[in-house]
Amino acid sequence: MVLQKTIGLLGGMSWESSIIYERLINEGVRARLGGTHSADLIVRSYDFATIEALQEAGDWQAAGRLLATDARQLQDAGAELVLLCTNTMHAVAPAIEAALDVPFVHLADTTAAAVLAAGIDTVGLLGTRYTMEHDFYRCRLEAAGLTVLVPDEPDRTTVHDVIYDELVKGIASPASKARYLDVIDRLAARGATGIIAGCTEIELLIGPADVGLAYFPTTQLHAEAAVDLALD
Ligand code: GLU
Repeated sequence: MVLQKTIGLLGGMSWESSIIYERLINEGVRARLGGTHSADLIVRSYDFATIEALQEAGDWQAAGRLLATDARQLQDAGAELVLLCTNTMHAVAPAIEAALDVPFVHLADTTAAAVLAAGIDTVGLLGTRYTMEHDFYRCRLEAAGLTVLVPDEPDRTTVHDVIYDELVKGIASPASKARYLDVIDRLAARGATGIIAGCTEIELLIGPADVGLAYFPTTQLHAEAAVDLALD
């Protein structure tokens, strides 16, 4: 009897958050199936420097080709659903989805569903500059019915730089945490009643107890969605 589906993870973007995905998914499967059960995973983990270079060059087509090819390889190796373990690289989600026959669990959809289920309609979005400024993520949240506020400058630069200079290297400093909390306060003053940690490393820095608003940690939400689908 098949108890669970095999989950394919496109990770390493960065590995600091991918290992949290793996832990949360394994814990979720153990909580549901008990005993010695753990998740059935296939992981493709990149050297993040390769991905970052494509982002900086703005070569989203090459990034899309790379991730789509590897997503297909996860499927061919047996994955029955695929997760892309980064918000930012959902910029190339259409290429990945086109390469797959199995479900692709889109992180913006998972997030939007959680925000709407909490009865919130105006959220602040923290993430990389790509996630905050490009359309692929914000517009998908808006299409789901949400009003999305992104930080003004220089706060966007602060949020972006902390991700690439610190969080993807495993550095979570009290000073950066204080700067993020100030950014969150300014989003709250503009009307946000919830905050989306729209970068999978932000959970390394800010937890729900740090924020006086509803908090939506995307790594945790995505991992929970994967467990639900794998055990469905
Ligand atoms: N993990 C991050 C995200 O969720 C940023 C790193 C990346 O560019 O993939 O957006």
